[in-house]
Amino acid sequence: MLDADTRVREGVTVLNTPAQIAERVEQFEESKIRVMFDLAEEHEGDLVRLEVGEPDFDTPQHIVSGAMDAAHDGATHYTSNAGLPEVREAIANKMADENYVHVDPESELVVTNGAMEALLLAMLAVVNPGDDVLIPTPGWPNYSAQATLAGAKPVEVPMSPEDDFDLDADRVIDAMSSDTAAVLLNTPCNPTGRDFDREEIQRVTDAVADYNAYLIADEVYEGLVYDGSSEGIASYVDHPERVLTVNGCSKKYAMTGWRLGWLAGDETVIDTTTTIHQSTTSCASSVSQHAALTALTGDQSSIEEMYDVFERRRDFVVDRIAEIPGVSCPRPNGAIYVFLDVSEFEGSSMEIAKKLLNNYGVVTAPGSGFGDVGEGYLRLSFANSLDELEKGLNRIEEMAHDELGD
Ligand code: PMP
Repeated sequence: MLDADTRVREGVTVLNTPAQIAERVEQFEESKIRVMFDLAEEHEGDLVRLEVGEPDFDTPQHIVSGAMDAAHDGATHYTSNAGLPEVREAIANKMADENYVHVDPESELVVTNGAMEALLLAMLAVVNPGDDVLIPTPGWPNYSAQATLAGAKPVEVPMSPEDDFDLDADRVIDAMSSDTAAVLLNTPCNPTGRDFDREEIQRVTDAVADYNAYLIADEVYEGLVYDGSSEGIASYVDHPERVLTVNGCSKKYAMTGWRLGWLAGDETVIDTTTTIHQSTTSCASSVSQHAALTALTGDQSSIEEMYDVFERRRDFVVDRIAEIPGVSCPRPNGAIYVFLDVSEFEGSSMEIAKKLLNNYGVVTAPGSGFGDVGEGYLRLSFANSLDELEKGLNRIEEMAHDELGD
């Protein structure tokens, strides 16, 4: 061990000491969506950004005002670990009214820093090192990363492109074993926008119960279901006690930056997650909790307007894609994405995404970033104006003509 004087004399600083990275995170891979984002940031010239995973709207003003008023009135302190009682109450009411899921706000709900923290807490609470976490793919890349952080083994379970990547319970059940601690279901799904078939969800949940595992239900796009209902998984399956529901304000209320989410489920699991939450982040930001309170209990008209705009964009994008040769996508029934089949183009989805960026000025997310089964696809987000969407799709059409040589 060098003393401080020798360290200074010999120029040994923290900066030139070899970094030691924990084995747990050594396997972390850079997200392919992030790669595209970085390339887009370096790119000079006019780009159409269709890789984004968040609503392009600012948070409605009355929500911002609700939070600011609360901050002015002194809501600047830690809150209870599980979240302010009135916020938990508002979430429980919202879940009952809109999702038909009934939870006790005092014992079955914890308010978190975004849905992301809720997902991580759920995994930390129910998986043991070495356990399997099953992830139907294409799926959001952070699930694997979080399972790895929790010491578990993420297991991709590919869904079928012939079935537009709907949930196929048989495939999930075949991948289950006594090592399975959790199955992650995200409906409507990022990246496909697909709202999964209920019977398949029911069958997966039955199997989860048989294996004494948990279904982690990521319902963050539940507020953006265009054709279908917003009923939560825990409202209709036979084993709601096995369902840990994750949701938040980011998508429906355009509140990504406020970092406000929640986890609802079995009392013992919630009690454990609240303890983990206490020793990691203490509580969700008190100002953001007040923003959530206004979002959940206040005027809903601006939220409904955003929803209508998303639905119109979804229809525009799908109809326009139908006119472009060599590419296709089903009409997504939820979320803010279409998963475009570009398998007739030359190259991997990463190469296609890079070519589309460099030669045509459109930024997308390569399908392979959502699991191997996403190869041959691009995820396009419709969280952009109709003008930009039109411009982007015109450019994709140009590329299609060049690729197909017509
Ligand atoms: N789940 C999915 C499927 C998502 O797409 C996102 C955000 N992109 C999240 C969770 C995270 O949401 P939050 O902002 O509430 O952490």
